[in-house]
Amino acid sequence: MTLVLDSSALFSMQDLPGEDCVTVPGVWDELRRHKDPRAAYWGGLLRTASPSDEALAVVRGAAEDSGDQGRISSTDSELLALAWELKAPLLTDDYSMQNVARAIGVRCIAVGAEGIRKVWRWRYRCQGCGRSEESDLGDCPVCGSRMRSVRKR
Ligand SMILES: [Zn+2]
Repeated sequence: MTLVLDSSALFSMQDLPGEDCVTVPGVWDELRRHKDPRAAYWGGLLRTASPSDEALAVVRGAAEDSGDQGRISSTDSELLALAWELKAPLLTDDYSMQNVARAIGVRCIAVGAEGIRKVWRWRYRCQGCGRSEESDLGDCPVCGSRMRSVRKR
């Protein structure tokens, strides 16, 4: 089974759900822009695809009808369109995307739902004093040492 994953799904999962996982190039760029360690980790496992103009038009129409057009980004629209086109479920925690998905008949799976593992988030640990942060600050705010990403269960 093919699964379409949005960035909220990708940013909160340790492992891909072990299916044929697809996302749009915009999400992949976002992972790389944040220097997310998973971009390297998942490089060979996650494929990217772009939706057709027809699928995008379906999403745009539904988002206008539901009033979500201002709340979903162009990347979000592409993800919805791709899921619609592939007839694949969309893994997302975003309420507006779930709303539009329902309107166009795309099944949504919430991150953390049964079968989808959400076991840990990445954390960043200082190599000097051991301080741990949720986000990548580059250097430790306490001692100035470099922070490294670590997996936290
Ligand atoms: Zn430190």
